[in-house]
Amino acid sequence: MFTENILSKQFGISETVYNYVQKIEKEIKYKHFENIDKIREKNQYKVIRAMQENRLNYTNFYWNTGYGYDDPGREKVEKIYASVFNTEDALVRPSIASGTHALYLTLSGILQHGDEVISISGRPYDTLLTVLGEEGNEANNLKEAGIVYKEVPLYNDDIDWEGAIKAVTMKTKLLMIQRSTGYSFRPGLTIEKIKFAIEKIRKVYPNICIMVDNCYGEFVHELEPSDVGADVVVGSLIKNPGGGIALSGGYIVGKKHIIDRLANRLTAPGLGKELGLTFGTTRNTLQGLFFAPHIVSEAVKGALLFGGVYSSLGFEITPEIEEERSDIIQAIKFNNKDMVIKICEAVQAASPVDGHVSPVPWEMPGYTNQVIMASGAFVSGSSIELSADAPIRPPYIAYIQGGLFYDHVKLSVMLSLEKMTEFDEIKYAINK
Ligand SMILES: *Cc1c(COP(=O)(O)O)cnc(C)c1O
Repeated sequence: MFTENILSKQFGISETVYNYVQKIEKEIKYKHFENIDKIREKNQYKVIRAMQENRLNYTNFYWNTGYGYDDPGREKVEKIYASVFNTEDALVRPSIASGTHALYLTLSGILQHGDEVISISGRPYDTLLTVLGEEGNEANNLKEAGIVYKEVPLYNDDIDWEGAIKAVTMKTKLLMIQRSTGYSFRPGLTIEKIKFAIEKIRKVYPNICIMVDNCYGEFVHELEPSDVGADVVVGSLIKNPGGGIALSGGYIVGKKHIIDRLANRLTAPGLGKELGLTFGTTRNTLQGLFFAPHIVSEAVKGALLFGGVYSSLGFEITPEIEEERSDIIQAIKFNNKDMVIKICEAVQAASPVDGHVSPVPWEMPGYTNQVIMASGAFVSGSSIELSADAPIRPPYIAYIQGGLFYDHVKLSVMLSLEKMTEFDEIKYAINK
């Protein structure tokens, strides 16, 4: 009897909802999981090899005090990141507070007064707009520093490389590409698309600096943007590469001359990478990196299940089920404020931490609209752990990402669907 099942007894999930999700799961498993496993396996070997090549050893988990000269753990973390991302150098530190901080550090460290930066993947992520000075009027934004920002929209969800080439001027110092969806409604830019665009642009401008915001993209493909020509690649440790284990931090990987510049910005000219404590974070950072290929594969499978269930109910989703994924995000367009709030409540209710609280929309620092965020994470704000967020503005899109374990995501899919049966059209659709 289904009513004896823990899902029914403890979580209030009906047999109808259970069967509905089982049916969708079977379809997506059959078609997609094998490929996700293949990518996971390759990335796992890549990470292990990077740790071996750089002779990671137990003493690298100890830490220094004071200036932190010759901190072997810090140097090891950065060497391993450089190996994994196939770059000359890396900056991976707890003193980088977040992904946005890592991106600001990169932009402000490369660009000087009078320089121009062009986003060639359309409108960037909300917090970047504040950094650039396109939104708000925060002190020390890039506009205030005399940096000119331009944008080339995507064309058919792809980089308009011809438009990008036309937009470059004598003053253009940097092109930026955002790999993932962010708060737009498009699939993540695939590695193939990024590679193709970089090759085309490089034919005309061989030396132009290209930065990729890699947030949410790490380990979704067997290659990273730095494998296909990006000069500098940036992300957050409380997303994919932290594997749910890293407690904080950001990373920047790329060409040595760029990393040197950015290190001088992070510490001070002349100090560069030689200083800076790790405060005992190296073990978590590296264990997280070790976990990351597996965790990311769980999250991608979970995203597929969310997408599969809600697209089968007639909601528009991106990426679509058959589309190649380049990030861990599943965006679902509800066109309905109550539904978007409901799904965030369900994700929260499925959480191991703070499962008893209910999220409400609020004004988050760096964001321009009210945002509702569901996150019951072991690491606060971590979005490689299952989380859902939605800016409260039409067309009411929920962005669902993460999930350390597929089973957890599946539970939250079932709980969300159960809650959604409050809406007649959904109740009707799953009983058909
Ligand atoms: C999350 C994210 C950021 C910012 O990262 P935080 O760590 O939240 O500051 C930047 N760009 C994209 C595309 C993101 O998804």
